[in-house]
Amino acid sequence: MTPIELYIHIPFCVKKCLYCDFLSGVFDEKMQRRYTAALCTEIKFIAATHPNCIISTIYVGGGTPSWLSEDLMDAIITTVKECFKIDPLAEISVECNPGTLSAEKLNVYRSIGINRLSIGLQSANDDELKELGRIHDYNRFLHTFDLVRKAGFDNVNVDIMTGLPHQNITKLEKTLNSVTMLRPEHISAYSLIIEKGTPFYEKYRFDAVKQQAGMETEELPTDEEAYRLYKFTMEYLENKGYKRYEISNYARNGKICRHNVGYWDRVPYLGVGLGSASLFDNVRTTNLRDIYKYVEISEAIDSGTIPSSELSSPYFDSEEQLSKKDAMEEFMFLGLRKIEGVARSDFFQMFGIDIEAIYGPIITALRNQGFMEAKEGRLYLTDIGIDVSNQVLSKFLLDK
Ligand code: SF4
Repeated sequence: MTPIELYIHIPFCVKKCLYCDFLSGVFDEKMQRRYTAALCTEIKFIAATHPNCIISTIYVGGGTPSWLSEDLMDAIITTVKECFKIDPLAEISVECNPGTLSAEKLNVYRSIGINRLSIGLQSANDDELKELGRIHDYNRFLHTFDLVRKAGFDNVNVDIMTGLPHQNITKLEKTLNSVTMLRPEHISAYSLIIEKGTPFYEKYRFDAVKQQAGMETEELPTDEEAYRLYKFTMEYLENKGYKRYEISNYARNGKICRHNVGYWDRVPYLGVGLGSASLFDNVRTTNLRDIYKYVEISEAIDSGTIPSSELSSPYFDSEEQLSKKDAMEEFMFLGLRKIEGVARSDFFQMFGIDIEAIYGPIITALRNQGFMEAKEGRLYLTDIGIDVSNQVLSKFLLDK
């Protein structure tokens, strides 16, 4: 049996946040039902083409999966259980947003085996939440968090953001203090990125360019301020007992997100749903991104016709066989995001060659510059290496 991870994409949100470029949108309940039926068809389809797999983690992401009614979530998880073998100790996570959960919904989640929730707070300051275009205020988040705990969830992540417009240490400290007082098991702290095609891009793109050029900005924190906010977050969380295990992720009592760690370790994963990616047998695929096409394909399969495709699944938009070189690069890029880095033995086991034979001169140069360290058979980035991780990781491209 091959251990795999399963990602399930739910592309629905109550309202689109102003900075968000994720594949999600506002659709009525009729489309949510149609999409869920299509998703269940795809789950059956992909299970039939991937026998002998056992699922170690399931991650339902989005979008706002918790916006789906409980019967739809039940239908999805039940279909997965009917089609795949699942490790009895599997981590089953669902992304949630404040204001989209109820006690009844959470009871259904528990009854179907969901055992980890990830709540998108982003900030404890209502003015920042409004600026981001979020649907909730801080009190609404508190109510949701309370419901989650009362329902018995003991593995909960809270997402927060740094680098927000007009954010300063005082505001960030309020968010960090408010969140850590609640003692969630896990905190993810991501920096705001101004993405093309979003209302934030229209509003802040000149500031973002100035920020990247290290110039004085008007509304976004300057490059230097953004760095201070990031460092402050790291030190604050570590002082409160949250151990950083990846560039943006912190856990207490070892409650890391197993699904994400598997992804950084290149455990094979299957993605179902709109736009989702899979990596299996070193073949990377992505699903199409048009929701109407997606449901039509499933509806055709339900009626007994498998739509023709040049790729190996009618759901695919792209399919790429990774070369050994691609796989090695990815092993380094993803593995070095983890604070513990990569194991030399894993590289050898995966590629049949010593890591030094491929990356020896790069590793030596990075160690001499203080960006990388080696200990107990592992290679990892130092704090200053992580600070400039984009530049450091680019050194592992083999064509350079
Ligand atoms: S809730 Fe999440 S996925 Fe939905 S629009 Fe906001 S940031 Fe994007």
